[in-house]
Amino acid sequence: MDRRTFLKSAVVAGAAVTLPGMLGAACNSTARRADGTPEPMPVDAFLAQGARVLWVAAHPDDECFGGVLLARASIHYRNPLAMVVMTRGDGGECCLPEGCHPDVATVRMGEMAKVAQRYRADLTHLRYWNAPLPVESFPKRHEIYAKWQGQGDPIGDVVTAIRRHKPDLLLTFDPNRGGTGHPEHQLTSRIATTAAKIAADAAVLTGGLPAHSVERTYHLKNRFWIYRMLGAADPGPITEVFDAGLPAAPGVSCADFMADATRLHRTQDNDMAMVRRIQSAAFTELAMQRVDPFTGTFDPAEPKDIKGMG
Ligand SMILES: [Zn+2]
Repeated sequence: MDRRTFLKSAVVAGAAVTLPGMLGAACNSTARRADGTPEPMPVDAFLAQGARVLWVAAHPDDECFGGVLLARASIHYRNPLAMVVMTRGDGGECCLPEGCHPDVATVRMGEMAKVAQRYRADLTHLRYWNAPLPVESFPKRHEIYAKWQGQGDPIGDVVTAIRRHKPDLLLTFDPNRGGTGHPEHQLTSRIATTAAKIAADAAVLTGGLPAHSVERTYHLKNRFWIYRMLGAADPGPITEVFDAGLPAAPGVSCADFMADATRLHRTQDNDMAMVRRIQSAAFTELAMQRVDPFTGTFDPAEPKDIKGMG
């Protein structure tokens, strides 16, 4: 199922999904570490201590998936936030009635800059190849990785971003399904998680920047019931669920903040309007898995062919 189909299905089912907790992850109320042992400091308490946060995404507009946590960190707690976006999203559509001039890539970069500003985030916007629609034409994940490697050093770019920003918390997609099935989401997760490992290695030199060890790495998980029903949800385990109803600003929940910021992605209005319509059903909480980049295997070159969009 691609993102559009998913969103439409959710709207059709809207009346049945207005209760909170439909992500199916709410029963995991105790936070756990990557190894499954209890975590005495839940992620919100970690943010309250001033944690610096880094979001690593494939596309402009992907921040809608993890935006609730980013809003809590940066808007409520005023913690330093940085975003890395691997592609310009030029494979996507242009919903502007006046068209996208001079091209989709340029317009989407402008939109992303505004979104980063809204989130008070420092933005690193890279220019790796973005698979053009339709979904059926997407190359396999490892083929996209080979393409990106031919264009630059994607892992090295994220290592640099980590060493520059020095995050305490890194948030990215699930490495196996990538939230929507998009291979670039999966690939970005693998690149970011591998980069977290390499950034801590003082033997690896990156432009004179000192090594940095990210204390917590989380993969966000799409556990929305429609996806679970179709067997297309991100796999568990879920180690923590963040409450998107927590305030980002006075009278504005993290979910509301995230949803409002999607309006800045005007070129993607078809999908972003749908995100706002299902906000109260699909974005009431953020399921996450805390992972250990040092012991887990997150090889971007692993051959795989799961396609979807987002
Ligand atoms: Zn995406």
